[in-house]
Amino acid sequence: MQDDAAQGEAPVATRDGPAQDVGTPPWHALPAEEALRRLGADPAGLDAAEAARRLAEHGPNRLPSAKPRGPLRRFLAQFDNLLIYVLLAAAAVTALLGHPLDTAVILGVVVVNAVIGFIQEGRAEEALRAIRDMLTPHASVLRNGRRLTIDAAELVPGDIVLLEAGDKVPADLRLVRARGLRIEEAALTGESVPVEKSPAPVAPDAPLGDRGSMAYSGTLVAAGQGTGVVVATGARTELGRISTMISEVEQLTTPLLRQMDEFARRLTVIILGLAALVFVFAWIGRAYDAEEAFMAVVAIAVAAIPEGLPAVLTITLAIGVRRMAARNAIVRRLPAVETLGSVSVICSDKTGTLTRGEMSVATALTAVGTFRVAGSGYAPAGEVAAEGNAEPGAEAVLAELARAAALCNDAALREDAEAGWMVDGDPMEGALLAFAARAGQPPDAVRRRFARRDEIPFDSRHRYMATLHRDEDCGDTFAVVKGAPERLLAMCDRERRVAEPEAEDAPLDRDLWRQRVDALAAQGQRVIAVATCRTPPDTHHLAPEQVEAGGLTLLGLLGLIDPPREEAIAAVAECQEAGIRVKMITGDHAATAAAIARQVGLRGAGEVVTGQDLEAMDEAALRARAREADVFARTSPEHKLRLVEALQAEGAVVAMTGDGVNDAPALKRADVGVAMGRKGTEAAKEAAEIVLADDNFASIAAAVREGRTVHDNLTKAVVFLLPINGGESLSIVAAILLGAELPVTPLQILWVNMVSSVALALTLAFEPTEPDAMRRPPRPAGEPLLSGFLVWRIVLVSVLFLAGVFGMFEWALQRGMTLEEARTAVVNTIVVLEIAYLFSVRYQRTTSFTWRGALGTPAVLAGVGMVTLFQLTFTYAPPMQVLFATRPLDPIADGLPIIGAGLALMAVLEAEKQIRRRIAGRLR
Ligand code: ADP
Ligand code: MG
Repeated sequence: MQDDAAQGEAPVATRDGPAQDVGTPPWHALPAEEALRRLGADPAGLDAAEAARRLAEHGPNRLPSAKPRGPLRRFLAQFDNLLIYVLLAAAAVTALLGHPLDTAVILGVVVVNAVIGFIQEGRAEEALRAIRDMLTPHASVLRNGRRLTIDAAELVPGDIVLLEAGDKVPADLRLVRARGLRIEEAALTGESVPVEKSPAPVAPDAPLGDRGSMAYSGTLVAAGQGTGVVVATGARTELGRISTMISEVEQLTTPLLRQMDEFARRLTVIILGLAALVFVFAWIGRAYDAEEAFMAVVAIAVAAIPEGLPAVLTITLAIGVRRMAARNAIVRRLPAVETLGSVSVICSDKTGTLTRGEMSVATALTAVGTFRVAGSGYAPAGEVAAEGNAEPGAEAVLAELARAAALCNDAALREDAEAGWMVDGDPMEGALLAFAARAGQPPDAVRRRFARRDEIPFDSRHRYMATLHRDEDCGDTFAVVKGAPERLLAMCDRERRVAEPEAEDAPLDRDLWRQRVDALAAQGQRVIAVATCRTPPDTHHLAPEQVEAGGLTLLGLLGLIDPPREEAIAAVAECQEAGIRVKMITGDHAATAAAIARQVGLRGAGEVVTGQDLEAMDEAALRARAREADVFARTSPEHKLRLVEALQAEGAVVAMTGDGVNDAPALKRADVGVAMGRKGTEAAKEAAEIVLADDNFASIAAAVREGRTVHDNLTKAVVFLLPINGGESLSIVAAILLGAELPVTPLQILWVNMVSSVALALTLAFEPTEPDAMRRPPRPAGEPLLSGFLVWRIVLVSVLFLAGVFGMFEWALQRGMTLEEARTAVVNTIVVLEIAYLFSVRYQRTTSFTWRGALGTPAVLAGVGMVTLFQLTFTYAPPMQVLFATRPLDPIADGLPIIGAGLALMAVLEAEKQIRRRIAGRLR
C-alpha cells in the first residue's frame, strides 16, 4: 500500500519547518491526488506500522503547552501579599531593635506559611491538570481501510481524517473530499461565519481565510462532511505557528473567590489604617514606648487580617472540582462549580441521558403485517415473529425493510471477546443493524451488494437521513430514507405491500399510519419510518430537495425501546425534592416523550409541548409554557435556545444538556451548559461548562449536589475564620484602649493564625455533603455569600471569643499566675475555642451533637489531632517556650478550665441554633 519510491521524493513534512521544499506549490494549491502522492498517503489510510514510524519521526500531534510557573516563581508568589510585607517589615524592625529571636520567629512563621501555601496550591493545580487531561480530543481516521477513533495526539502526516459536523479539526488537512462542508475558522482568522470548503486547489498566494481546500487544526466543522489528508501536526500547524503556547492551566478562581479576595484585600487596607491610628494612640496618648506600640500594631494586623482565607477557599474549590470529576462531571470552567449550586432548572436530553441509550427494535410494522422482534443487546441472534394474521407478501416487505435499515445507517457492530456485541456509532443505528441481522439480512452482506454512492447525513433539524445505493447485481440505483415518521409520511405517497416491482405499491393512507405511529409511541417506543424510491441508473448525487419533493414509497415503521436508566429515576426524584425542576427536551415524538417522562417520574409528564407549539407562541406565552411544562418534544436546537432564554427571563438558573453542533448556542447561553462526553461533538464540549463522562443524568444531579457542598464549605470556611480574627483583634484593641497588658503577644497571635487556624480551616474543604443539601430549595442567584444570619453569627462568635480571651486572662492573673503563664493559658484557650467552633460550624442548620458530628471526617480528626500536638509542643517544649515566651501549664488545674471554655462555647452556640429553630418553627 505504501508507495516507497514516491515517499522517497515526497516532501513529507519534517520536524523543523514548512512541509514543502522551496519552490513547490503550497498544499492548498496542489491537486488533492498530488498532495496524497507527496505525502505517501493512501486513500484507504496508512497501515499501523507506517503510522507508528511516522509518529516516531514527527512526534505527537500536540501543541507545546505553556510552561507552568517554575517552583521558585510559585514559591516566591506566596510572599506577594500585603500582610507578608507587614510581617517582613516587622521582622526588619525587630532586627534593628536588637531582638533577633523575635525576628527569627516572624521569619520562621512566614516561611512555614509560604510552604503550606506552596504545597496546597501545587496540589490544587495538579488536580485541575489531571481533570483537564480527561478531555483529550479524538479523531476519526482511516487506517488500513478501517474507520478508527484514535487520540488526536496520535495523528501523523499522511493520515486520512474523516470530518463531520461538530468535529474540531485535529490537524492541518488537505481536503480530498467535501460534502456541504463548512468550517468555522474563528480560532485562526477571527472570522466567525463558517466558510465553504471543497477539494479544488486554490491560488498559491491565497490568504489563510480563502484556502477552501484546507481544513486547519483547531477550527470547528459547522456543517457537512469531509475527508482530508494530514499535512501538518502539532506545532507545525497554522495554529501552532500563531500560538505555540496554549495556556492549559486555568486560573484557579471564580467570581465568588475573586469577590472574597477583593474583600480580604480591602479589609487588610482598612485594618492597616486602623492599626496606624492605634499606633499613634498607643504611643502618644498612652504610656507605650515606640517599640511596644509598633509591636501592638503588628499584633492587630496579624490578628485581624484573615490571611489563611484565600488559600482555604482555593483549596475548597479544587477539592470540589475533583469530587465532581470522580462523579463523572468534568468541569471545564471553574465558575460553573458555584453556579451549579444555585441551578433551579435542569433541561435534559432524553435519549442516552435519561434513558440508557441501549436501544433495540421491538416492533417492525409494514402495511401487510406486524412483527415482534425478540433478542437482547446488539447480538444478531433473535426471533422475528409475525403477529396475528400477516398477509402473504409480508415476509418479503419485512426483508426489504430490514435491508433498508441496514443501508441507511452509519453504525457498525463488532463482537468484543469480553464485552460482547458493541456498536461503533449511533446506538439507534446499531439497533437497526441488529434487527436486520435478526430478520435474515446480515448487514455486511447487504452493504456489499448495495454499495453506497452518496448520502445526506442525519441532522436534528430535518430529522431524517438518506442514502443512495447501487445494486451491484443488476445495476439499479435507489435511495433509502429513514427518519421521524411525520417527516417521512410527508415524503411518501405509496406504501409497499409485496416485494418489488413498484407497480404493486398501494396509495398511502396517512391517517391510518399516523394512528399506527401514535400507538407505538404511546408505549414509549421511539418510532422510525423507512422509505425508498428508485432513481435513474446514472444517479450519483442525492440532494435534500430531491428527497423532500415526495413520491417515496413507505416500507414500514420500526419501534425501538430504550428503557430509562434506573439511576436517572432516582436522580430526577432527588432533584425535584431539592426544588429543581427537571425538564425533558427531546427531538423525539410527543407520545414517546410523554411515556418516558412518566417512567422517569417527571412531575409534568402529562402535558407535552411540541416544537410546533413553541413556534406559534408569542414571547409571553412562551415564557409561561417554558415555566410550567416539563416535556418538550419534536424540538430542534433553536427551540432549546429559545427555552433557555425564556426560562432565564423568568428568573431561573438553567442547566442545559446538549450534544450536537447546533446545540452550542443553547449551551453557551445556559448558566451551566452540560455536554455529553461520549456522544457529544467537540463543538458542544467547547461551548459547555461541564462535560459528562458517562452522558448520564444522574451525574448532573451529583454535580449539583457537589456544587451545593462546595458552596456550603466555602461559606463554612469564611464563617469559621472571620470571627476568630474578629475576636482576637477585638481583644488586642480593647487591651490597648484600656491601657492594659496585651493578653497575647504578637508572636503568639502569629502562631495561632498562621498555624492552628489554617490547619483547622483546611479541614472544612473536606467536609462531606450535609444531609439536607438536596432537601432545600436552590440558593437564589446573586445571593451574597454572607447572609444576615451569617453576619450575626460572625459578630456573636467574635464577642464570645473576646469574652473567652479576656475572661481567661483575668481569671488566670487573679489565680496568681504570672503574665507569661496567663498568656499561655489564653493561647490554648483560643485554640480550644477554635476547635469547639469548628464542630459547630460544620453543621450550619442542624445540631452538631450527633455521632456524625462528634466523630467528624478523617480530615477533621486529623486536623484536630495535629493542632493538639502543636499546642502541647507550644506549651511544654523548651525551645518553643524560649521562642514564644510560653510556660508549662498544669494539665488538670489549668487544662480542665480551658477545655471547659470550649465546651461552654459549644453549648452557647448549640442553644442559639435551637432557639433559632424554635423561632423559625413558630413563624411557620
Ligand atoms: P433525541 O432528543 O431523542 O436525541 P434527536 O434529535 O436525536 O432526538 O432525534 C429526533 C428524531 O429524529 C428521532 O425521534 C428520530 O425520529 C429521528 N432520528 C434520530 N436519529 C436518526 C438517524 N440517525 N437517522 C434518521 N433519523 C433519526
Ligand atoms: Mg439524539
